[in-house]
Amino acid sequence: MSEQKGRRLAAASCAFTLLFCLAVGLGVHGAFRYQDVRQERILSAENSRKQAQNELELSKYLRETDGTRPTQTKAGESRTTQESTVPSTQGASQTEREEPGASAKRGPSHTPDGAIHDKKVYLTFDDGPSPNTLEILRILKENGAKATFFVVNSKYNSYMKNIVESGNAIALHSFTHNYKKIYQSEEAYFEDLQKISDVVKKETGIEAKVIRFPGGSSNTVSMRYKKGIMSCLTKRVEEKGYVYFDWNCSSGDANGNGIAASKLVRNIKEETKHLNGHIVVLMHDSQAKTTTVEALPEILQYFESRGFTFEVITPETPVVHHGVNN
Ligand SMILES: [Zn+2]
Repeated sequence: MSEQKGRRLAAASCAFTLLFCLAVGLGVHGAFRYQDVRQERILSAENSRKQAQNELELSKYLRETDGTRPTQTKAGESRTTQESTVPSTQGASQTEREEPGASAKRGPSHTPDGAIHDKKVYLTFDDGPSPNTLEILRILKENGAKATFFVVNSKYNSYMKNIVESGNAIALHSFTHNYKKIYQSEEAYFEDLQKISDVVKKETGIEAKVIRFPGGSSNTVSMRYKKGIMSCLTKRVEEKGYVYFDWNCSSGDANGNGIAASKLVRNIKEETKHLNGHIVVLMHDSQAKTTTVEALPEILQYFESRGFTFEVITPETPVVHHGVNN
């Protein structure tokens, strides 16, 4: 082998080694990059899945906001001892969990006879006043019926006066109806309650003592903001002289907007078919709940045909309470 040939061979092998190293380097780098991108994609997919799940859970929780709940009815003189459960019914959102101790098999047998056979129905409207308030009042009047309005702060506050002047009852729900805000502490809750109380006082001259917790006393959404807050609040409101009410029949209008009026009527009939008295019906008076207004005449006729009278809730009305879950 000539010297020149040897040098060329050495140069070629050197170049080859260099190229080889370069290729391997690029390959390894590429592989790592690919791995990184893949990892990122997996993480981001995982994040979106978690986020979607969180959102689903949140919307589930938020649907509890006055959604249907199996209830415990406390009635009669001994509010703290007389209680019973009534069956959870089909109006309940399927995504909602069964509450502890609210077995569908237990009937309202522990409720004093005077209450369960009193043939009284308490229609309640939450979240108003709204553009629907006056129409609801008109339908109630036309049918000789009365209802109780658990109000929030809205630009229709002036309708609070119409509620009272037409012989219906006004009660407190919340100023903001913002769970995150009101359920973060006892102070925050009472600050909000005082604010809506002041609005009602200003608009109607009434110092309302009947209240309803946003989401009902059984809500679990409050757990996100403060553990044990409902156990605390349910006691504190009573100490402060308020009387809180849940419901034992839901129209199901909280499960969505535009639910057919016929479906709302069906929900109520289904939930009350075994109840002969002391029924507290949950409905909503908010702009989006137009089908509730549409369903109202038939709801009124239904209870009337069963011999019920329409009553308003006062601080003396035997309470209907859900069990507290937080
Ligand atoms: Zn509400």
